[in-house]
Amino acid sequence: MNSFLLSCLALATGGIWGSFLGVLAVRVPQGLSILTPNSRCDHCGTSLSPSELVPIFSWICSKGRCRNCDRPILPEIPVSEFSTALFFLFVALLPAPPVERAGLLVFFSFALPLTLIDIRHHRLPHVLTLSGALAGLAFSASARGHDGILFSAEGALIGFIPMALVATFYSRGMGMGDAFWLAAIGSFTGPRNLSIVLLVASGTGILAALAIHSLSRPEKRGSLFGKALPFGPFLSLGGILALGFPEIAQIVNSHIMEIPL
Ligand SMILES: [Zn+2]
Repeated sequence: MNSFLLSCLALATGGIWGSFLGVLAVRVPQGLSILTPNSRCDHCGTSLSPSELVPIFSWICSKGRCRNCDRPILPEIPVSEFSTALFFLFVALLPAPPVERAGLLVFFSFALPLTLIDIRHHRLPHVLTLSGALAGLAFSASARGHDGILFSAEGALIGFIPMALVATFYSRGMGMGDAFWLAAIGSFTGPRNLSIVLLVASGTGILAALAIHSLSRPEKRGSLFGKALPFGPFLSLGGILALGFPEIAQIVNSHIMEIPL
């Protein structure tokens, strides 16, 4: 397919899928159905007309506000539409085998709503993390058969156990949601690449904490380690890098982490 057409198709499909992921991010923490009712304003309940359901464009045309109550549309929806459209474009252009690209898209479909939920609510719902772990297992099984099931189960266990111990004995630092999310990530990446996931997550988490600390006003700054910064988004980033750039993960594992391949 012509690369221009492929890019347009990836952006359009990503925008539509991103709309659904945004609905997941808004409704799952509230315990609402993700299928009914249809899309509506989260403030006044006005149903959206078909012209207000076009991903990205509807948000731009309405200037991000409800036509009835004029209150701002929840940022999860446009953020999800924009980022999914761009991610689909990135994956379409990534020089990787189709099976790796498909795995990346499935993983992203759990990573994005969990990231948005963790940022707003500081929790990672088990319904999404456990579904993610099962999706990773099913994906590995369909791609690699029996070996894929072992690869995925080993990744999930090695991801879960240490993080669950940390969450149990140091509950201020981690939650059990982080342990289930790392188990789901391990079911996609397998056990060896979990090291790069944790390396990226810890490194970017520390950088983000330092940036927030230094940008805060002095009177509100407090202790650097006293802030509750959600760890889920950083784990998601580590998972995407480990799955999207497996060659880099292998180099890090073999040369820096000294894990035999
Ligand atoms: Zn409204």
